[in-house]
Amino acid sequence: MIIVLFGKPGAGKGTQAPLLAAALGVPTLATGDELRGAIRAGTDLGREAKGFMDRGDLVPDSVILGIIKQALSEPRAASGVLLDGVVRTVPQAEGLATVCAELGKKVDAVLVFDIDDDEIVQRLAGRTVCETCQTPYTGRAPGTKCDKDGGTLVRRKDDEPDAIRNRLAVYEKQTAPVLAWYREHDTKVAVIDAVGPVQDVTARALSALAS
Ligand code: AMP
Repeated sequence: MIIVLFGKPGAGKGTQAPLLAAALGVPTLATGDELRGAIRAGTDLGREAKGFMDRGDLVPDSVILGIIKQALSEPRAASGVLLDGVVRTVPQAEGLATVCAELGKKVDAVLVFDIDDDEIVQRLAGRTVCETCQTPYTGRAPGTKCDKDGGTLVRRKDDEPDAIRNRLAVYEKQTAPVLAWYREHDTKVAVIDAVGPVQDVTARALSALAS
């Protein structure tokens, strides 16, 4: 089972991914987390990605497709995977389809988290994330500790106002057209309301995937 979690930055994909993964019994792949991990580790991948990420621009498709291919080939992805933050461009959708075909898999559904820009700006302005495990929090000050692993909560550089505006513009230009691509390629596209208590959104997501 391969599910693409889709939506604007701040729509709640990162919050919902582990909850949905636990309910569905599959692992998650969050390309943003992978890239931030590479930056912290000081790898070539991290050095290549950092400038794009700090500005709120997309990292080149070739880099992302390399990450996807490796993750989907791992034994832990045998039962499927929830993709959080991929697919973000039409070439990524095409590349993912090719990788899936090579591995005898397919994308089963695209789950769209629907939310207004105003709500996004408000959410991201108040977001902090755990420096170590990347768990996102809303309304918790930088410097406080993560409930899961005690890591320090920090603001993401790309959650600053200029970067947020750029990320929303990038979404409209490069990411939104991906939905039409999936509809044209006969893949189920399920849209859910992403506003409301976390557990309500999880329930909506699971019911949309089951129907
Ligand atoms: P996220 O944590 O999903 O909000 O991603 C943070 C940043 O990582 C994005 O703004 C991009 O710079 C980069 N990134 C993550 N996933 C992708 C992707 N699939 N394609 C291109 N860039 C990505």
